[in-house]
Amino acid sequence: MDTIYSLASARGKSGVAVVRISGPHAFLAAQGMAGGLPAIRKAGLRNLKTADGRVLDEAIVLCFDDGASFTGEPVVEFQLHGSTAVVRAVLDELSSFPDLRLAEPGEFTRRALENERLDLAQVEGLADLLDAETEAQRRQAFNILSGALGGLAEAWRRDLIRAAALLEATIDFADEDVPVDVSPEVEALLDGVLTTLRSETAGTRIAERIRDGFEVAIVGAPNAGKSTLLNALAGRDAAITSEVAGTTRDVIEVQMELAGLPVTVLDTAGLREAQDAVEAIGVERALTRAKAADLRVFLKSDMDETMPLTPGAEDIVVYGKADLRSSNELAVSGLTGKGVDKLVARIAYLLEDRVKGAGIATRARHRVAMERALAALDDARIELGHGPDRAEFAAEEIRTAIRALDSLVGRIDVEHLLDEIFASFCLGK
Ligand code: GDP
Repeated sequence: MDTIYSLASARGKSGVAVVRISGPHAFLAAQGMAGGLPAIRKAGLRNLKTADGRVLDEAIVLCFDDGASFTGEPVVEFQLHGSTAVVRAVLDELSSFPDLRLAEPGEFTRRALENERLDLAQVEGLADLLDAETEAQRRQAFNILSGALGGLAEAWRRDLIRAAALLEATIDFADEDVPVDVSPEVEALLDGVLTTLRSETAGTRIAERIRDGFEVAIVGAPNAGKSTLLNALAGRDAAITSEVAGTTRDVIEVQMELAGLPVTVLDTAGLREAQDAVEAIGVERALTRAKAADLRVFLKSDMDETMPLTPGAEDIVVYGKADLRSSNELAVSGLTGKGVDKLVARIAYLLEDRVKGAGIATRARHRVAMERALAALDDARIELGHGPDRAEFAAEEIRTAIRALDSLVGRIDVEHLLDEIFASFCLGK
């Protein structure tokens, strides 16, 4: 195993920069630069020097034992003054040690996985936590990083292994009189797993939305005030507003945080009969995106042409240009800001309501594995219904379900996933 090192904090100027070294030669290299090392997990202030005695920086040095470090290997961290020159000088010096090399992106985490400090779901949780931009994303990612999905998978596994073992016992002793009928216990075990697995699978789609962001499309006739409203929501000029109908020829996306949730608001081309081919493409694209969005805000105007899209029960319908209206109907004005807070609150309320159903699992990969397990367990349940003669087949279906759930935490089927997952990590993690 090589000893690897890298800047672990963000590039550029900062108060403190962290350089991490991991591997069998970590302590030796750190000692070469810092002189005597502080005790394990005790911070020590040291001058970091080159081999010929030049002082590079005064740093806090932290050492972690192989059994109790992030990677599971001996790890040393230098907390440096956060300038590019200091970081460069320290990294240069580390590169002069023959047994050390610069880490690849995600390599520290990869070692944590290989040394079983983290399971695969936790690695994904860590990647999501580093990417988290909103409160809901942070909470969800931290939950997975803490091992919540692994815990759930372990509980399912335990029950399913017992169920399969009970069935297999009846197969092995088929010739003899088995004194007890195992099917009630097996059925109870399967039904327990099926119930939690079903609700967890259903919650994954919402969790996926929290991870990737909800889409809210603003739809309405040309000049209804969609772009102006988007700008008001975003607090900056994100879309071009103009008085010429049909300006927003494509779909403009602005990401923002609403009530702690990641939301991408889409400004779609005005839905009307297109005047030319380019606009027709814009309208078509607007329709597709608006239909696929999680929520639509329909901006009404008095001169509404017939819309090619009808609002669903969950959608918001509101008059635009509230400043030009006198009555008290639900209306919003991007220009004056009237009603914008109310609209935001309404969007947040509707999305938060959906978030309540979110599961622990966050990725399509998790959902697919759980769906595979569900299908196998449903089949197992059917086999069981056919009586003890089919016990063997029921047990086989349960084994299939166990294998599918094992892939959640990377107990099996890991290799082909790793490159894809670690490619998303930044350097130094
Ligand atoms: P879009 O085609 O639906 O995106 O509409 P725009 O946002 O481009 O707005 C079309 C025109 O209506 C522009 O001249 C805007 O300045 C004007 N407008 C937009 N919102 C409001 C509003 O809330 N009140 C008033 N009075 N005018 C608005």
